[in-house]
Amino acid sequence: MRALALVETGHVEIIDVPIPTPKSNELLIKITGVGICGSDLSVFFGHRDVPQYPWIMGHEAVGEIVELGSGVKDRQIGSRVVVEPNYCCMECGPCLSGETSGCENRIIIGMTTPGLLADYVCVPAEFAWDAPLSMPTRELICLEPYTVGVAAFRRSQAVSGQNALVVGAGSTGLMLITLLVERGLNVYFIEPHPTRSELAEDLGATAHLSSNSIPYHQSFETSGTALGMETALNLTHPGGSLTLLGLSTDPVQLIPASVVRNRLTIRGSMIYDHPVDFASAMENPPHSFSKILRGEFQLEDAQKAFEAARAVPGKSWISFEKEQSES
Ligand SMILES: [Zn+2]
Ligand SMILES: [Zn+2]
Repeated sequence: MRALALVETGHVEIIDVPIPTPKSNELLIKITGVGICGSDLSVFFGHRDVPQYPWIMGHEAVGEIVELGSGVKDRQIGSRVVVEPNYCCMECGPCLSGETSGCENRIIIGMTTPGLLADYVCVPAEFAWDAPLSMPTRELICLEPYTVGVAAFRRSQAVSGQNALVVGAGSTGLMLITLLVERGLNVYFIEPHPTRSELAEDLGATAHLSSNSIPYHQSFETSGTALGMETALNLTHPGGSLTLLGLSTDPVQLIPASVVRNRLTIRGSMIYDHPVDFASAMENPPHSFSKILRGEFQLEDAQKAFEAARAVPGKSWISFEKEQSES
């Protein structure tokens, strides 16, 4: 079967590998599409090390169950599934407390274990979620990154009717905007890139203007920059809450007295917790993914897809469907 591997920094190739055999707790999944996100790009561009070369890429995968491991009972061959690509151990301290995003033994697909950009992959059954029937297959690509927003929303304790500011309208920001709009918040955003701004407006958010004095009860930082964090912090209304999703490693200017006087809550929101956040995303998927899903590439054009992904507003993804029906 085909798999897409990083053979050196900045260069991917299709390689030939054997079809894997599912262990007793696993499903064999025929992949139909895989999304590309910022963490894939940091691997591609060499900002994040991989255990070996060639390295199979990808983690935002959707597909169809084609075989059940011997111990898997209650699943159906032919079901469409979305993969939750962070396998937590459910045994360590953080897992036992429900915060599996802090799992001490977390297996991160595409980072610590080979990725899902392959014709067939094996996934533990509990990390392959049956897809909402109402959603077109291509839109399922968005469910994993959307779940990152679902977790941030849950942790922020945001409620309908509040004013929310989203800093950054890359794919995480856009997913969050979609969610906040659907949950009834008044959503504003800051995004310098004109096409991403248009997309954010199309999803129902309003551009923040420096002249406005909207009290933001909730701010979400998704740009992953120090400036983004400082901006979000300065614009959060007294008594409000700032949730950080972006992974900036640059120091920021923070005046403790103003955090205290303004009674601000600052929290980091790391991916999602198993199983609550995926369960919630699957139960209540949004209706606007088709607007976010922009760059579609075939597997043979994966090199182009990775090179272009940063510039494409919305979400880029790789489709497996055409080649498979032709071969
Ligand atoms: Zn991702
Ligand atoms: Zn754990």
